[in-house]
Amino acid sequence: MTTEPSDYVKSLPIGQQIPFDADGIPGWEIFPFEGELKVKLLEEPVLPEPPREGEPGGQECRACAAADDAYIWADEHWRLRSVSSASIPALVMLEPRGHYDIGDLPEDRAAELGMLFQRVERAILALGGIARVHMMRIGDGSLHLHWWFAGRPEGMLQLRGSCLLIWEDLLPKIDAEVWAQINRQIAQGMAEGGGVALV
Ligand SMILES: [Zn+2]
Repeated sequence: MTTEPSDYVKSLPIGQQIPFDADGIPGWEIFPFEGELKVKLLEEPVLPEPPREGEPGGQECRACAAADDAYIWADEHWRLRSVSSASIPALVMLEPRGHYDIGDLPEDRAAELGMLFQRVERAILALGGIARVHMMRIGDGSLHLHWWFAGRPEGMLQLRGSCLLIWEDLLPKIDAEVWAQINRQIAQGMAEGGGVALV
């Protein structure tokens, strides 16, 4: 268990005002904010880090505790979950049934991921009006592997790139009925390649 900050962390300007660099991403058209902005001060590191959900000493794993009815599609080894509401045209998470992170995922499951990525991307693109499906695994909240897929609406060039999920937080939410229909379509698209649609 790490208790000493790394050389990298020791080199950070903790507690010092970091200049706002408008030549970087904040100056690009994809950056969602304008006006006078200030970079937050970096706080002291926390070591050892607190346990994530699903780690020893952490909160109970919600993915393991969730029944299939919390998901939109499932098969023997994988489940696809949506979020209760969103403001971009698709936002789902792919999770293994087993309590694994990416590094300890059994080889068979790890080998399935490539084809599952294709299936989720195709199911989202089939909705129409989607230029790109962004995929990301972050995992700072929970140990249980959850791979995000976010649909970027076609034509909305300002929503390109890594700021998409910040925009997602800012834009008006999609109507609940429309959102439910979107998730049904994604689930049906997944089921065409196996498993069952659950919505
Ligand atoms: Zn779990």
